[in-house]
Amino acid sequence: MDLELSDEQKLIVANVRRFIREEIRPLERELDPDAYTLQPEDHERLVGMTEEMGLLNMQVDTVTRTLVAEEMSQHNAGLYAPAYGVFSRREGGAEGGGGFLGLSEPSGGSDPARAIQTRAVRDGDEWVLNGSKLWTSGADTADSGIVYARTDLEKGRAGISAFRVPTDTPGFRVERLVQVLRSHYTTEISFTDMRLPLQAMLGGEGSGFARANDTLSHNRIPYAVGCLGVAVYATELAVDWAKQRVTFGEPLANRQAIQWMLVDNEIDIRTGRWIALDAAAKAQRGEPFRFESSMAKLLCTEGAGRVVDRSMQIFGGLGMSKDMPFERWYRELRIRRVGEGPSEIQRVVMAREILNVGSGS
Ligand SMILES: Cc1cc2nc3c(=O)[nH]c(=O)nc-3n(C[C@H](O)[C@H](O)[C@H](O)COP(=O)(O)OP(=O)(O)OC[C@H]3O[C@@H](n4cnc5c(N)ncnc54)[C@H](O)[C@@H]3O)c2cc1C
Repeated sequence: MDLELSDEQKLIVANVRRFIREEIRPLERELDPDAYTLQPEDHERLVGMTEEMGLLNMQVDTVTRTLVAEEMSQHNAGLYAPAYGVFSRREGGAEGGGGFLGLSEPSGGSDPARAIQTRAVRDGDEWVLNGSKLWTSGADTADSGIVYARTDLEKGRAGISAFRVPTDTPGFRVERLVQVLRSHYTTEISFTDMRLPLQAMLGGEGSGFARANDTLSHNRIPYAVGCLGVAVYATELAVDWAKQRVTFGEPLANRQAIQWMLVDNEIDIRTGRWIALDAAAKAQRGEPFRFESSMAKLLCTEGAGRVVDRSMQIFGGLGMSKDMPFERWYRELRIRRVGEGPSEIQRVVMAREILNVGSGS
């Protein structure tokens, strides 16, 4: 891959990097170790700063977005609240909102083509949805989301369609918040005789499965580099600590065992980044990138887990404590080996391409 960054890309990345280090990290020293939000006045102030810097609601290409996503996650809350959202503001200024993805169901998430049981039946000028979704992140705060439902029982994956669902539609219900590794949660939602206008269907009838695959391939790139961001920060902390912590009369950094951990961290970070940028560059050029996006998801989520684990080890007891962000990242990164498609499923996607086989109906 040939990736020469333009001067503009370098400037954007440098500005975001400086902002995260100088504005976000110092504020985090005062926050709860598991915080996902800033004090409202700090949030407003920082949004004002990103606006002034021309970095609010950036309209950039896929490669730049990927570079920026890694930078934005280089702080304590970087995995699930990159830069606390201060680089984006929604129309009308409302917080929360966003959109959810309703694909996985209680019957399974790895193989949605077979597992989806949510049903959409046409009734005159409306679609009527019944069913439920599990693990739907953000459905409790979103204004709307995309729900995948079966419109034809005979057609397998070609019988799945996508619908835009406003969360205030009668029949939509958040059944419960599902707590996962502390302090993260997701939701279970249900649809009971939920009526949607015909225009709520996205794309043609039966195009939902292809749409879901396309969405996942795109989403996996920022999902992957978000993990790299905390891995970079973890290594930065570990390098500093190894230089200053003295045992048996010498800094840890003089020990080969520690040096090799730091080298392995760098290998995990650079290989993950390279493949993620390759996926982003291919996506930008309109070339197939599903294989690379799956590989990036796998390498970055698993690699960042190893990086954080090694960095914790270098910190000894301090690494286990909430005085440092490692234990938070350790929990959050574990989720990332399942969310957005588990590691095994990324291997399934890649194996199918290597062997040139489809996935059946
Ligand atoms: C915190 C969190 C947030 C999530 N957010 C969302 C969301 O917003 N929207 C959404 O739609 N889903 C979401 N998910 C669901 C996630 O995508 C699914 O959990 C995932 O796809 C796996 O589905 P499953 O849990 O049903 O496991 P299963 O499909 O039952 O699989 C169980 C295990 O078997 C493995 N496995 C399955 N098939 C194979 C195979 N062929 N070969 C080898 N191993 C295999 C899987 O990798 C997995 O480890 C979220 C999950 C979590 C934990």
